[in-house]
Amino acid sequence: MVNALDEHERTIGFGEFALGQIRALRHSANPRNYEIWYVYATGYNTQLNEILNETIARNGELSQAELDQLYESYLTHLKTSDRIDKVGARVVGEIDDLVGTISDALGRTASYDASLAGADQKLASATSREQLVDIIEALAHSTKQMRETNRMLEQRLTLSKDEISGLQQSLEAIRAESLTDPLTGLGNRKYFDRMIEMAVEGGLTSNQPLSLLMFDIDHFKSFNDSFGHLTGDQVLRLVGMSLKNAIKGQDIAARYGGEEFAVVLPNTPLRQALTVADQIRRAVTARELKKKSTGEILGRVTISVGVSMLRPGDDTDALIERADACLYAAKRSGRNRVICESDPEFAAATRGQVA
Ligand code: GH3
Ligand code: MG
Ligand code: MG
Repeated sequence: MVNALDEHERTIGFGEFALGQIRALRHSANPRNYEIWYVYATGYNTQLNEILNETIARNGELSQAELDQLYESYLTHLKTSDRIDKVGARVVGEIDDLVGTISDALGRTASYDASLAGADQKLASATSREQLVDIIEALAHSTKQMRETNRMLEQRLTLSKDEISGLQQSLEAIRAESLTDPLTGLGNRKYFDRMIEMAVEGGLTSNQPLSLLMFDIDHFKSFNDSFGHLTGDQVLRLVGMSLKNAIKGQDIAARYGGEEFAVVLPNTPLRQALTVADQIRRAVTARELKKKSTGEILGRVTISVGVSMLRPGDDTDALIERADACLYAAKRSGRNRVICESDPEFAAATRGQVA
């Protein structure tokens, strides 16, 4: 077990470090800034620490806008586990209370039952009017108590119903959050895996066309190396936004991995899918990038896109593999382009690899 005094010393150390950083950087000592530096001091969020170190090493300082962006990207997701803990504790508390109330009500029902049985026996041997009055009074008394118990139980159940529907809403919000990529607001990989599986199944059973677009940012590593991860994150948001703006209805957009994205287009044949892919490619290239903190113009980024279409007898993995192979062909043939399975570049890139 951790010694309480050690824990005290350790956490005071984190707190003092956090305030020291806020002082040194002349930032406001608000809870968000404190949290960032406190988490930094604990060292358990290695990504956050790397980016903070890198940004300070590069610029020699850190703006409040950069800190806010870091908070959104690297700390808000921690809240999910906190919230799950809280909802979990509320569920346990609610169940404990209910079990208590129900056993209490059961105890009272048993004693009411006993008083009915007693009255039954007494009635059989009652010989006078007074005895009958006593029995009836006792019955009326225990019935009144039982009604009171029922009323309390009903009240308690109504409260529980409200509490449980509140808990349901909280769990739903947490579930949605666990399927969302915090940086771009798009669905995350878990969401993509679930949704594509359902879409492919739907496409195969309904015999409707289905297309998959896989995107990868061109030369993103060198972009990050030149301008820093925070600016790189801005680019990821821009690509995410371009995807969001281009899709509609039942289309599915997700961040597939670090700088890779995917869009599933149900009921969409290849030609239409290529139009959507190129629209996204052009939207990304059209934006001139500016560094948020300094206003410096950074130029433009491009993306490459691979597009595959569902075939009869296909499965999800095969569909993804073909889109990925098209993406690879797009990179090989010069980047900033869309390649699909019927393009000669795809055949050239996969010659000898695909039977
Ligand atoms: P290519 O045109 O061949 O795709 O070159 P590339 O440099 O984009 O490809 P590579 O796969 O070598 O590099 C991917 C880079 O993406 C590595 C990493 O610096 C960056 N990256 C991945 N995830 C993130 C992220 O969440 N934020 C930021 N800023 N960068 C990321
Ligand atoms: Mg990549
Ligand atoms: Mg890339």
